[in-house]
Amino acid sequence: MHSFRIPEFVADLGKKRIEGFPVEGFVYGEGPRQPKMMLIGEAPGETEALGGIPFTGRAGKELMKSLASIGLTREDVYITSAVRSRPYRYGQRKERDGTLTERKYNRPPTKLEILAHAPVLDFEIANVQPELIVTLGNVSLQRLIGKQAKVTELHGKSLNQPVRFLRELEDVEYGWTEETYTIIPTFHPASIFYRPSHRPSLESDWLEIGRILQERNEQKSSGKTEKIIIESRNMDGE
Ligand code: URA
Repeated sequence: MHSFRIPEFVADLGKKRIEGFPVEGFVYGEGPRQPKMMLIGEAPGETEALGGIPFTGRAGKELMKSLASIGLTREDVYITSAVRSRPYRYGQRKERDGTLTERKYNRPPTKLEILAHAPVLDFEIANVQPELIVTLGNVSLQRLIGKQAKVTELHGKSLNQPVRFLRELEDVEYGWTEETYTIIPTFHPASIFYRPSHRPSLESDWLEIGRILQERNEQKSSGKTEKIIIESRNMDGE
């Protein structure tokens, strides 16, 4: 299967634009050129920033379970996020012996960090042209369709609409694509760690994603059969 990877000049642009923010590492999006869908997360965590592969930490394990629930694996989908570097903050941790040590903690990306990496995600969406986009959590949902969108209201729904992108690198406001995309918002896989009550919704959202994929596959294969029938008729001179 051919895979898609952003060219180095796009990665370099992303790295340059995020210089000076408290972030570390740079994780490339990963997946086939024609994926079943594009999954968009928030930003890498510690595990991803170290290993360079998206969703390989605790949240990643949950995400793989959701994919497996609809018969898919990491290889079937393109996985990326709104921000590619790990946003961190310093905090103190109390050790067993009572001493305090300073360490880095994950934090959500800021609006400016999301803007800094917008051209990277825009490039992926424009070049992969995913048939289906699944946003994981509010950060990627709002990045694509605006601040008013809330995952608690929209999860599991299928939205057909343009997405936001940066028209010019120096812009600070987003424009809208001409193309429309099918977007299904769901919760971020890590959200169930601090809100276990979301698990049933998350599971049913994934079943809905599976149902929509199945429906699209059936439409595609019936379209192909029709085409074969028409072509064979034409060969018979009918
Ligand atoms: N959250 C994300 O959005 N991406 C990762 O790779 C890990 C956690």
